[in-house]
Amino acid sequence: MGISGQPVAEQASELRELLRRYNHEYYVLDAPTVPDAEYDRLFLQLQDLEANHPSLVTPDSPTQRVGGTAAEGFSEVRHVRPMLSLSNAFDDDDVMAFDRRVRESLGSVLDGTEPIEYSAELKYDGLAISLRYEDGLLVQAATRGDGSTGEDVTANVRTIRAIPLRLRNIAGRLPPALIEVRGEVLMFREDFARMNERQRAAGEREFVNPRNAAAGALRQLDPTITATRPLRFFAYGLGRLEGENEPARHSELLDWLMRLGLPVGQRALVNGPQGLLEFYRQTLALRPTLAFEIDGVVYKVDRRDWHPRIGYVARAPRYALAHKFPAEEALTELLDIEVQVGRTGALTPVARLRPVFVGGTTVSNATLHNEDEIERKSLLIGDTVVVRRAGDVIPEVLRALVERRPPEGSEEFSSRYRRFEMPAHCPVCGSVAVREQGEAVWRCAAGLYCSAQRKQALLHFAQRRAMDIEGLGEKLVDQLVDAGLVSTPADLYRLELATIASLDRMGEKSAANLLAGIDASRKTSFARFLYALGIRHVGEEVARQLAQAYPDLDSLIAEDWAGLLESKAVVQKENARRRARGEALEPVPLEGIGSEIVDSLRSFFSEAHNLEVIRELREAGVAWEKPAEAGSQALAGLNFVLTGTLETMTREQAAELIRNHGGTVVGSVSKKTSYLIAGEAAGSKLDKARDLGITILDEQGLLALIGDRR
Ligand code: NAD
Repeated sequence: MGISGQPVAEQASELRELLRRYNHEYYVLDAPTVPDAEYDRLFLQLQDLEANHPSLVTPDSPTQRVGGTAAEGFSEVRHVRPMLSLSNAFDDDDVMAFDRRVRESLGSVLDGTEPIEYSAELKYDGLAISLRYEDGLLVQAATRGDGSTGEDVTANVRTIRAIPLRLRNIAGRLPPALIEVRGEVLMFREDFARMNERQRAAGEREFVNPRNAAAGALRQLDPTITATRPLRFFAYGLGRLEGENEPARHSELLDWLMRLGLPVGQRALVNGPQGLLEFYRQTLALRPTLAFEIDGVVYKVDRRDWHPRIGYVARAPRYALAHKFPAEEALTELLDIEVQVGRTGALTPVARLRPVFVGGTTVSNATLHNEDEIERKSLLIGDTVVVRRAGDVIPEVLRALVERRPPEGSEEFSSRYRRFEMPAHCPVCGSVAVREQGEAVWRCAAGLYCSAQRKQALLHFAQRRAMDIEGLGEKLVDQLVDAGLVSTPADLYRLELATIASLDRMGEKSAANLLAGIDASRKTSFARFLYALGIRHVGEEVARQLAQAYPDLDSLIAEDWAGLLESKAVVQKENARRRARGEALEPVPLEGIGSEIVDSLRSFFSEAHNLEVIRELREAGVAWEKPAEAGSQALAGLNFVLTGTLETMTREQAAELIRNHGGTVVGSVSKKTSYLIAGEAAGSKLDKARDLGITILDEQGLLALIGDRR
């Protein structure tokens, strides 16, 4: 602070400038760019400065005035009784000080040490409105504006169903000749979410929060638009009143408003600062369960006849206080984006934040879900971001303050800001990461190997419908992995009795049982084994189909997946043509196994880490009998192609028969084809087989072949 006081004055004027800008965005444009907590912080800073340097106070300072100004397009309404703001309290001390000030100003009116009675209410997070009823009829509705002049929004307010157009008689008594009811217009959370969904679907601007949505809706120049916005209302105060005595207590006023047919929210009558603080804590706990947002509670001296004695400061009454809840949104810096690998191999980008106190706790991480989400929010590492944490909901990065970025290309920009890129490899195990078509998520392809996916992979492997290892459940998997005894399914088969028995809560007997279970699982089926590998999209049914289609695991691993997709496409095209002509269709290779599954098989079997684990499993003695060996080997080494409609069986049944006897069935005729089995209405395959001089048999011929060779 120099002698001239220059730096302080500059600081004050800078703060005023900023607050004015934020006020304009908030009150006039209904589109704030910073969280309320940030606004409140700057406001407090200015208040402090002005308190220490009273000469700096200017009449137009945001600390001396109420909120907004009337927007053009509406007629103005003068508030005979001004609509004020409220002074804020942020902690218990502020509340104690408020009670002390009230007591001091009441002085001799108070009866000794009796605690003061307060009406404690919710602080609705909407916007203030004044409703003017004449002889019970709603004649005018006005926004708060700058407190003395507001906007006439009568047409809009008439569309709000919670606001009665006519007040009720109470016990036959007519409503007062004139009453101005003050209250808050707001939007319920669910209505807000639904409305934003509609906005999104229509490609329109989404609202930042229910308050701004409500303000925007109320200040529409076209009331038919307001009518489509789900607004609500709670009454909490009184402006002018004629033809009736003013209630002496605020609690009585609220009771009366209710009886006149106006919605009044929950409230309590409490004693002294202890009563206030208890109400605060109870309401804070209730906050997440409310249908609407509140940003705190409001305390008012219940005796209205005492209000004039207690008086006013520039912009707020001294007999009332807003006790604010911890902010649910705050500003902080996005320091970095790291990638975490989940149990299923999903790579999730996580924001590392400069720790910030928000929603009652310190937040330093927040999930960013996936790469598209980062793109959608156009986040850069280094950005100033808005973080939200409401109730028990996990913290969220809402958006970046793009306007705070220095120009791209400037030195400041390049030294601090960086674009995030999804890594091509799993940050945990170094295996390749893949993003499947139609998915937002990248995944580590080494499900069998990656330590992040270990527990999940083992549990799946051991499942009853997979390798069916009895006794290997979640707790045991946790123990085995955490003790470093097992990292991949192959390690299970190397476990020894003594090692298992040494685990916590594991007796000799259950250890022996587990070992027997593991041992028994060595003998399995091809389909079970395939399912147990936990390849994405390969469920039991797909595993069964694969096990039928391929003679053994090696041919499955060696499959040319790209070629397979191509030949599928060729046959499908051909079939479309045939279908149009009513001709018999050709069998589609691996019918029912779509490109999504094929992609997933391809990435799984091309990851060397997975193949390594499979090799170890087979070395450990995991094996299955070929179904063909259960039948005969009559057709071993022969390649078949099926076409046309057979006499007694479907082509699928014929294919199974061939496989059961050791033969292989493929989709298209080539020089390697041993036999073409042709039924009625065979098409191009028959021609091709003839061209290549391949033996052609019918169903009887196939059966005879099996019989002959046995
Ligand atoms: P306020 O909203 O903090 O408090 C006064 C208002 O509370 C009243 O006008 C009334 O509308 C409302 N209220 C709700 N329940 C009430 C009840 N039961 N009894 C009485 N009044 C009740 O004050 P304000 O002057 O309207 O606005 C200031 C606040 O607005 C700031 O603290 C800040 O959080 C926010 N703001 C944010 C930005 C931004 O850019 N983010 C800009 C300006 C203001």
